[in-house]
Amino acid sequence: MQCRALDEKKYRCANDAAAAEYCDAHRVMPPQTGESNLTASASRWRGFWSKFGASPRNIPDGGKYPVPKWLNALPTSQIIQHLQTHPDAMTRWMAAFVLRKRRATEAFDALWQTRQTDPIRFVRQQAAVALGKIGAPAVYAPLVEGLYHDRDPGVREACVIALGNLGNRAAVDEIARALEHEENVFVRWDCIVALGQLGDARVENLLARLQAQEIVQALRDACRDARAEIRQRATRA
Ligand SMILES: [Zn+2]
Repeated sequence: MQCRALDEKKYRCANDAAAAEYCDAHRVMPPQTGESNLTASASRWRGFWSKFGASPRNIPDGGKYPVPKWLNALPTSQIIQHLQTHPDAMTRWMAAFVLRKRRATEAFDALWQTRQTDPIRFVRQQAAVALGKIGAPAVYAPLVEGLYHDRDPGVREACVIALGNLGNRAAVDEIARALEHEENVFVRWDCIVALGQLGDARVENLLARLQAQEIVQALRDACRDARAEIRQRATRA
């Protein structure tokens, strides 16, 4: 199996992980293992993941679509096959939707690959949403990769919305960094909203700076709201 970590450029690690989920460089080391044994990137990676709980989060999913009965009735393995090989983009999209509603963890790799390589943006987008609904810690990697690299802003939006909904602060640094180089206004807006949702006071300076500098009014307002939300969460905590 291919390693489920990201490399330094935020692409999926190309190493083979054999029967495990992560390659040797990205495998989480037991605490007694010395830091010096790890490369810098593996060390950062471990820090990133160590903040995650082990159990999947159940993200609410109000999405509805009249998927044809023949498709809905198929076992998950065949849905995955349609996702990866069906010539009709609409069928691939519906396959991603069914996997999303089933929160099919066994579709993780297929959904990641679809998010990376499907030529149709709506299919890549639905794959990103489906990964978010699976909610396991492993889905952060494909969502961060998508936020950094998908050529379609709608897919990048789906990725950052999912990261915000997953609600774990481990994604804050990744979103803040993406926001620094993101040019699309809608994706920027979603990044700011997600930072508010995640409620980490460390991005206060970044949001204050953007609120002063942004040309687009809606983005300044989003920064103001996100800062208020972060302060509110701090007083509640
Ligand atoms: Zn790796």
